[in-house]
Amino acid sequence: MKTLDQIAARLQGYDPQALPAAAVNEFLARLVEPVEDTEDVAIADALGRVLAQDVISPLSVPPHDNSAMDGYAFDGAQLSPDAALTLQVVGTALAGRAWQGQVGPGQCVKIMTGAIMPAGLDTVVPQEFTRRAGEQAIEIPAGVLRQGDNRRHAGEDLMAGQPALRQGERLGPASCGLLASLGLPRVPVFRRLRVAYFSTGDEILSLGEAPREGAVYDSNRYTVRGLLDRLGCEVIDMGVVRDEPALLEQAFRRAASDADAIITSGGVSVGEADFTKAMMKQLGDVAFWRIAMRPGRPMAVGRIGNSVLFGLPGNPVAVMVTFLAFVRPALLQMMGCRDTAPPPLLRARSQEAMRKKPGRTEYQRGIVSTTPDGRLQVRTTGNQGSGVLSSMVQANGLIVLHHAQGSVAVGDEVDVMMFEGVV
Ligand code: AMP
Ligand code: MG
Repeated sequence: MKTLDQIAARLQGYDPQALPAAAVNEFLARLVEPVEDTEDVAIADALGRVLAQDVISPLSVPPHDNSAMDGYAFDGAQLSPDAALTLQVVGTALAGRAWQGQVGPGQCVKIMTGAIMPAGLDTVVPQEFTRRAGEQAIEIPAGVLRQGDNRRHAGEDLMAGQPALRQGERLGPASCGLLASLGLPRVPVFRRLRVAYFSTGDEILSLGEAPREGAVYDSNRYTVRGLLDRLGCEVIDMGVVRDEPALLEQAFRRAASDADAIITSGGVSVGEADFTKAMMKQLGDVAFWRIAMRPGRPMAVGRIGNSVLFGLPGNPVAVMVTFLAFVRPALLQMMGCRDTAPPPLLRARSQEAMRKKPGRTEYQRGIVSTTPDGRLQVRTTGNQGSGVLSSMVQANGLIVLHHAQGSVAVGDEVDVMMFEGVV
């Protein structure tokens, strides 16, 4: 395991007082390690889990050549580009009930979607392309079909012996269906990541406590919990920890012994007159950063025992933004995912001018909509204060104004990270 100093020494231009967002991601990618333990789960419980091994197809899907349409199967070599073809219907092939006989020249078999292609036949004419030609015959007009049309090949989806899914795949609905199509009842996945989180600050009230002057209810624990639930982590809610060294020490020690990662909020600002930072420093290998971003400048990162620490700022929007920008990709890596990159950004035309200084990354809460002519446009939610949590509720994405980018004029295209599926 590398120390923070060793990691920092390998990062170009590492400046903990003005760290570019990209350097934060790079640092964290070097800090965290994927979990190793695995377990077998039923496919019905596999959604959101991360595959611990490549899955090699035990069979081909589909297992046989079969028809993609309801129609008539025949030997397509008989088609000619400028003459209709008349065929005698000699039998019927149903899905799940193959037709076993021989089909000669001038003959065809009525076939249903999914039915096995009878021996020697390679083409299916859809029912609606055909004309009746007497009691037991059909006619295919010239030029409507080519040899091989409407036949699905055995193994065209998945081939026996080939990898169907790779280790590190985070299983979505499609992958769960795909595993089931292979007849696999269970799959090996990495164990769930355990993440402990607590809020700090003497002004923070837990739900159920009476309001008092100068105090605010703890929203961060619920946004963090929601974000962790979306990632499929096992969560350990440790409540609000008061600003007393003994309580903080106890909380950090317990979190470090129970969890792979610890997320705290509050108490990492510059000039913060509390014990949180001091305790992090005392118990672990922790760096305190000022990130060149808005919102969410201060952040503490490191290790306490074998746990990775993410000390997020206290402001509710800053918590969510730093989670999405930095913690989420790091947790995905710890979960064993191969693809930890954030979802692709959309480009939308800004409906507003936005002032922005190059040299920091800004995340504005955005509302993306579609113009009548089908283009994407985006406006901000208004007040972009880092405590204005309602802006995250109104927004459907974050407008990402990149590090080197300057001000935005009305009509300029900007990048947006959409929330759907993430937040
Ligand atoms: P701090 O980072 O501790 O300086 O906190 C910055 C701001 O975020 C202050 O206004 C805090 O009251 C507020 N804050 C800190 N923690 C929470 C929390 N868990 N829930 C809601 N607001 C918080
Ligand atoms: Mg505070």
